[in-house]
Amino acid sequence: AAPVRFEGVSKVFGKDVVAVDAIDLHVDAGKLVTLLGPSGCGKTTTLRMIAGLEMASSGRIFIGDRDVTTLPATDRDVTMVFQSYALFPHMTVLENVRYGLTFSGFGKEEARSRAQAGLDLVGLKGFGGRLPSELSGGQQQRVAVARALVLEPQVLLFDEPLSNLDAKLRRQVREDIRAIQQDLGLTVVYVTHDQEEALAVSDEIVVMRNAAIAQKGTPRELYDAPNDTFVADFIGEANLLACIIVAVEGDMAVIEIEGYRYRLPGRSLPAGPATLAVRPSRIRFGDDTGIPATISKATYVGVRMEYTLTGAFGQVFAVQDDVDDPLEPGTEVRMTFAERGPVLLPGG
Ligand code: ADP
Ligand code: MG
Repeated sequence: AAPVRFEGVSKVFGKDVVAVDAIDLHVDAGKLVTLLGPSGCGKTTTLRMIAGLEMASSGRIFIGDRDVTTLPATDRDVTMVFQSYALFPHMTVLENVRYGLTFSGFGKEEARSRAQAGLDLVGLKGFGGRLPSELSGGQQQRVAVARALVLEPQVLLFDEPLSNLDAKLRRQVREDIRAIQQDLGLTVVYVTHDQEEALAVSDEIVVMRNAAIAQKGTPRELYDAPNDTFVADFIGEANLLACIIVAVEGDMAVIEIEGYRYRLPGRSLPAGPATLAVRPSRIRFGDDTGIPATISKATYVGVRMEYTLTGAFGQVFAVQDDVDDPLEPGTEVRMTFAERGPVLLPGG
């Protein structure tokens, strides 16, 4: 497994479609890094530039110590798993996995035993003689993973590999991919537009927006300390509340919402309008201090209660672990925030 590095890489299609705009990217060897962002933000183009299926318009791309910027796909030692698994329907599962190996110059017996080992690895021992049509969607996707794995590439790329699977299989296959990646210490770049999937599988997430990197970090860093409202809203759920920074005291800021004041880490923001991002699980209800709010909706979802709070600030979505004494709609509460909860973001 090798690291991947982008230095100021851009891709422009035609005259002026900037699909990727001068991004720097670093994927450590043996790590799984996810490119996450809305449709059209440049994820697939970035992946295809690693594979050599698209050539960079400018900047440099390194895999390990090699500058691969101008190398053709066949010389990069990178394999891509697509969202449509593209198995050959007339070949057996084993033949599908063996095909690429024979193509890369392995002898017939060596190719066969490696293909068999690949199928064992993805939990498809004993399925080698079947046709793809005799497998479930999840099993077919695992064949596609096995087919990529047996080539032992320096870097393995996944472009939305789960999008053709139903919700239950998606969870299972993503766990399989993560387990295999960790067991074998593979370098994986994984593309998805699904934030939950990204949080679940990644060592690091690169959030993309409009052809650029909005923020990168571990799942925890992005969840707990988003840089702006786009990332706060895209990763997990966030309540975005308009507030005013009324004073800056060293590292701390004093903010005001509806006449109520809080002190919290200021993140070097100047006084003036700002946004407070608060996760639903960080909302607290008190009865004496805090911002006046009314429970406008209460839903029991088994493991927790979900509440909508309405007040002069607008609406806030909150979840509470206490399901035994639920609050009724119409209850007046005072809204506060858990100590580590709210994050101050630029812009009002
Ligand atoms: P994502 O995978 O995040 O949905 P893409 O990388 O596929 O985004 O596309 C990024 C942008 O580049 C989009 O505006 C898309 O229309 C454009 N684009 C992608 N491939 C091509 C191409 N071959 N020719 C022209 N424009 C393209
Ligand atoms: Mg795409």
